[in-house]
Amino acid sequence: MHFGIVGSGIVGLTTALELQNNFPNAKVTILADRFNEDTTSYMAAGIFRPSTSFMGPTQEITQQWINDAFHYWDDIRRSNKASLAGVCQLSGYIFSSTSPSIVRNHFIEKLLPIYRQATEEELKLCQGNWKYGSFFTTCVTESRLFLPYGTQKFKEAGGVVLFHHVDSLKTLPEKYDVVVNCTGMGAKELCGDQQLVPIRGQVLKVRAPWIKTAFYGDYDTYIVPGFDTVTLGGCRQYDSYNLDVCKYDSMAIKERCYNMLPSLKKAEVVREFVGLRPHRSVVRVEKEIMQRSVDGSAIKIVHNYGHGGYGVTTAPGTAKYAVKLVREMLVGNSKL
Ligand SMILES: Cc1cc2nc3c(=O)[nH]c(=O)nc-3n(C[C@H](O)[C@H](O)[C@H](O)COP(=O)(O)OP(=O)(O)OC[C@H]3O[C@@H](n4cnc5c(N)ncnc54)[C@H](O)[C@@H]3O)c2cc1C
Repeated sequence: MHFGIVGSGIVGLTTALELQNNFPNAKVTILADRFNEDTTSYMAAGIFRPSTSFMGPTQEITQQWINDAFHYWDDIRRSNKASLAGVCQLSGYIFSSTSPSIVRNHFIEKLLPIYRQATEEELKLCQGNWKYGSFFTTCVTESRLFLPYGTQKFKEAGGVVLFHHVDSLKTLPEKYDVVVNCTGMGAKELCGDQQLVPIRGQVLKVRAPWIKTAFYGDYDTYIVPGFDTVTLGGCRQYDSYNLDVCKYDSMAIKERCYNMLPSLKKAEVVREFVGLRPHRSVVRVEKEIMQRSVDGSAIKIVHNYGHGGYGVTTAPGTAKYAVKLVREMLVGNSKL
């Protein structure tokens, strides 16, 4: 059995690892034209807080993806591999000056170890006129650490990683029993998927080791501590493809974050990143059969893309579901 995965971001990598777990004797090959630092996954703060707008084909399946993903990260967090893998526990506040619904989240209120209303005292923790707030304890996964850790694990289990730009899923260099398409924004071109839209984001990574708690405020403002740096964000620019750092976005992010936590003014800015969140109103995890251009033979494809601003943390959940679809596609395969 030979599986091909297109894409080496967090979605491709977690899918590849899940395939190896389910089919220990199969050969798994990852094909991608960008790795580690050059992927969208790399820059994300990686906080596990999928939005209430995150959506799979049904509410039930979406909740299953989220539950599976949380348990995947939480198991790593409890293990002796946690720091190598870039996974840790983090608590934080989400505040709003306008709406109570912003601070509620039906997906994770019962899943996370703590999710509760903030007290009157806690609403005064940060500068701002905060009327509503929640306190929660969750996981953070830093792809900067998880991508190399997971790739190493994948290779140790016999996985192969190839640098290859895929022009079409119909002209892949080899025949695979099933191909899983984890190309993030790349799927827009590869699948001609007009439902996939970039939501541009910009973040600053600053050195502020005294910040141990995450904070979310109005206008997409967030402060998320990681292993070495704190991520300050952000912005959500719909249908923007601009990958340059915008100085106006930087100024706005700094002003909003400094306003919430003035001590951040002292923090050294280490790096700035821009990324395009691969947004699709319904994340696409589904089967498709295509014909190979060269001989018309069938190519079994499972798509797994369109995770928007929540792909780092939800990836293991959709990976598990994608592998279930791979298994369904193999029914009748004599190699099973
Ligand atoms: C500023 C910002 C902050 C974020 N914060 C969070 C957060 O806190 N929590 C969270 O869960 N998520 C967050 N996200 C979202 C998260 O980063 C994405 O959802 C996730 O990275 C998507 O992963 P992916 O593997 O689908 O895509 P990518 O990481 O972009 O990987 C795509 C892969 O496909 C390959 N590829 C594409 N097309 C082709 C082709 N034609 N041929 C060969 N290879 C191809 C690329 O080379 C790459 O390897 C954030 C995103 C941004 C921009």
